[in-house]
Amino acid sequence: MRDWLSHRVRVSPEGTALVRSTSGESWTFAELDGMVDEMAGRLAALGVASGDHVGVVLGPCVDYVALIHAAMRLGVTLVPMGDRLTAPELRTQVETADVTVLVCGSETETRAVEATDDVPVVSVDAATTDEVVSVRSVLPDPVTPATWTRDDVQLLLFTSGTTGDPKAVQLTMGNILASAVASAFRLGFDPRDRWLVTLSLHHMGGIAPVLRMPLYGMTVVLREEFDAGAAADDIDRFDVTGVSLVPTMLRRMLDSRGTLASSLRTVLLGGAPAPRELIERCRDYSIPVYPTYGMTETASQVATAAPDEAFDHPGTVGRPLMWTDVTVVDEDGDGVSAGELGEFVVRGPTVSPGYYADPEATAAAFDERGLRTGDVGYVDDGGRLYVLNRVDDRIITGGENVDPGEVADVVRSHPDVRDVAVVGVPDAEWGERVSALVVPETDELDAAELTAYARERLAGFKLPRVVAFADELPRTVSGTVKRDAVRERLSGGREAERGPS
Ligand code: ATP
Ligand code: MG
Repeated sequence: MRDWLSHRVRVSPEGTALVRSTSGESWTFAELDGMVDEMAGRLAALGVASGDHVGVVLGPCVDYVALIHAAMRLGVTLVPMGDRLTAPELRTQVETADVTVLVCGSETETRAVEATDDVPVVSVDAATTDEVVSVRSVLPDPVTPATWTRDDVQLLLFTSGTTGDPKAVQLTMGNILASAVASAFRLGFDPRDRWLVTLSLHHMGGIAPVLRMPLYGMTVVLREEFDAGAAADDIDRFDVTGVSLVPTMLRRMLDSRGTLASSLRTVLLGGAPAPRELIERCRDYSIPVYPTYGMTETASQVATAAPDEAFDHPGTVGRPLMWTDVTVVDEDGDGVSAGELGEFVVRGPTVSPGYYADPEATAAAFDERGLRTGDVGYVDDGGRLYVLNRVDDRIITGGENVDPGEVADVVRSHPDVRDVAVVGVPDAEWGERVSALVVPETDELDAAELTAYARERLAGFKLPRVVAFADELPRTVSGTVKRDAVRERLSGGREAERGPS
């Protein structure tokens, strides 16, 4: 296979590939193909060639879209990195992924230079330092599109780092293709689709629609900077039919605009648990929400629920996608029955061959039975998945197992609670104490009121012993709660003491 855009451009050159939402500019597949050829040619002129690991530290922009497809055209592996990372964090990722050339833009140039010693740095903008070459300073070489096989590694994509340091996941062209096809089987697709991309391009949820655009022949509407009101307006202005969001983004969009335009056919909602109240709001406003569960190691979706399924079965992320098998196992790795809690193990063509150059981490997570996700949940007797928490999140207090998700659900059901994270905080006497960081809806709420509320609904050992309040929960860019940060916040706290900030 050659890069997917070079196939697409023969099928529908005049179709709209890309719209930049802030300016309204747009590019047809033929125009994007020209930009990609130029980008690939300039990189080739700078010595980038098959076998390279091309790091990218750049915010979402039109050049980034061109770069993604130019990498495929050149036959190089793309290594997207967070554009907000500090220089030392970038350096770690550059080293972990054996990056051979680092692409930056004017906003990330200084950090890119600080993060590298002998790795050449290339800017898509005009370069401001001597160490950096601008792609614009060279004439493009002619490029013959590279040929890919299924097992070639297209992306090294870092995990969000919720449970530790981000890991560099190898994703092959076969993984990404299988994911694109299975996703289309579940969501349906139409070349007239217009997908709003406003998630970071260094996570699967953001880059997936950009990669799939030439496969489906659909349009990507790129919002370079997330702003809840503006993103909701984009849906209206550009007749957007699909969007991928994490729950906090969707909540903010609904808070700012009440509802979303009726052009929407698909709101793919994942990355973190979706609060039930949010799904109920979608039902009330007829928003076609598809709760989904996925991860970097599976090139995005593992399971996805259709709107009716989500409304009829609160909390579900639906059934596995085509070809993907999910089993639930206990601590010994033995399968459990429907309704019983265990760890999800995922097998199928979207599952990565492993972490890059990290045989130890790979062996710990991947074996012939599949990928051990580290996520705890259950499958109901209709085969639908429910994700509760991570294996590492289970709280053991006084010898009792407490599921933080269950406690969080109870606390969240209080009308004055907007959001909550429940974690175990180390404790000399009990091993761990159940602790809650609460985002209140009003100033009225205090810890004593919450504890009394929880006492009516939870066994004594599950009650949060420490309650603190915050304006926001600390989250990763994917929307998952940074549990270490919550724990840190709470371990300084005394018993249920502080009022809302
Ligand atoms: P790391 O692997 O570095 O700890 P991470 O797992 O957060 O970070 P990602 O691959 O971006 O990195 O996120 C995938 C994880 O996000 C899943 O394993 C799961 O824990 C969580 N997740 C994704 N979708 C959902 C969902 N719908 N409900 C609950 N959790 C979800
Ligand atoms: Mg993970």
